[in-house]
Amino acid sequence: MRLVHKYGGTSVGSLERIRATAQLIYADVQSGNEVAVVVSAMSGETNRLLTMAHDIDAAAPAREIDALVSTGEQVSAALLAIELNRLGIKSYSYNGRQAGFCTDASHARARIKDVKSEHLLAHMQAGEVPVVTGFQGADEQGNITTLGRGGSDTSAVALAIAVKADVCNIYTDVDGIYTTDPRIVPQAAKLESISYEEMLEFASLGAKVLQTRSVGLAMRFNMPIHLRSSFEDVAGTMVTGEDIAMERAEITGVAYNRDEAKVTIKGIPDQPGIAARILGPVADAGINVDVIVQNVSAQGFTDMTFTVPRNDYTETMALVQRLCADMKAEKVKGDDGVAKVSIIGVGMRSHAGVARKMFDVLSNENINIQMITTSEIKVTVVLDEKYVELAVRALHQAFDLDAAE
Ligand code: ADP
Ligand code: ASP
Ligand code: MG
Repeated sequence: MRLVHKYGGTSVGSLERIRATAQLIYADVQSGNEVAVVVSAMSGETNRLLTMAHDIDAAAPAREIDALVSTGEQVSAALLAIELNRLGIKSYSYNGRQAGFCTDASHARARIKDVKSEHLLAHMQAGEVPVVTGFQGADEQGNITTLGRGGSDTSAVALAIAVKADVCNIYTDVDGIYTTDPRIVPQAAKLESISYEEMLEFASLGAKVLQTRSVGLAMRFNMPIHLRSSFEDVAGTMVTGEDIAMERAEITGVAYNRDEAKVTIKGIPDQPGIAARILGPVADAGINVDVIVQNVSAQGFTDMTFTVPRNDYTETMALVQRLCADMKAEKVKGDDGVAKVSIIGVGMRSHAGVARKMFDVLSNENINIQMITTSEIKVTVVLDEKYVELAVRALHQAFDLDAAE
């Protein structure tokens, strides 16, 4: 088989873990597989580097931040290659540019345009193991770029597609994808498989076990992902295009995201085009507007509320305050202590009343819902951040997702 293995931060987090990871790769090569490896930085390293940069200058140039944080992966890649060579397997570490990852020029959120991987494939076919730094590439000018937090998942899937691997194995510190984050709900149950479509919602609504873009890419090229543990040898969760909707329960899982902030504009003179006049400039500033609610207008005035990533809160508030002064709106209010909780599942298509049941569960817990948004396979509510864990646990239990004892 031709395999791409990706190891996350905890799987290369110490020399001991690097040795254990090298043993897994060694065994796969010995049994005749062609293997390429993508690694993350040692756990905690990316944050450590970012903190240093921000301690010098909170507004450090994005190009230099990318140059700095890309070094985390270079360390783990080289250490792993050293250990593989010691075990007797020829192994070569490559940084993103050397590995052929060509990206656009948007620092900190670069998109992969192409992976020129012929040399990596040649190693694989010769029984050698290329170890590639995840999370990074270079733009046309050769500037180092990074793909956004958690981006090594996307590097791995892109490489798997480029070398036409049979499967992309993503090794991490949990042994599969669970019905919700097992760190906050110990009763979460492991899913044997999940469709790309559901996983895409799951990831984009906050399940950070896979970077959302990695799932989108895998879906587009039909690349199966096996999410599994590097700590124990058990089958993980397959993310595939197979239709597993048949006997799905009402919902498949619960996701949450604390990374949210809310902006409310009160008393906007209601005229055609106000949504575009407010949200257009926000989008132009590269800020991702998510849940949007516009109230029915009363006496020619309306209110609008929307959410943005918490990181973009200060910039959004400043921008919206300027726009509202121009538009003569009454006032702008913000809250950067909100969170999003979502229920997800293709089963919703064939079960009625799922959203209503969610609202009942939250109301029984006295949790106030601030905003609601739905699609065919998800219902999302915005609530005060302090209720996240309570809401996730209550929903997980009410929808019968708790694992059997
Ligand atoms: P890595 O460093 O290997 O990329 P991450 O920390 O990015 O690992 O992702 C693994 C973590 O994702 C787990 O430790 C778990 O707490 C979290 N997680 C969130 N939601 C889920 C879920 N639904 N199923 C499994 N893990 C989840
Ligand atoms: N090291 C990067 C991060 O911490 C990329 C990754 O781990 O996927 O976000
Ligand atoms: Mg990750």
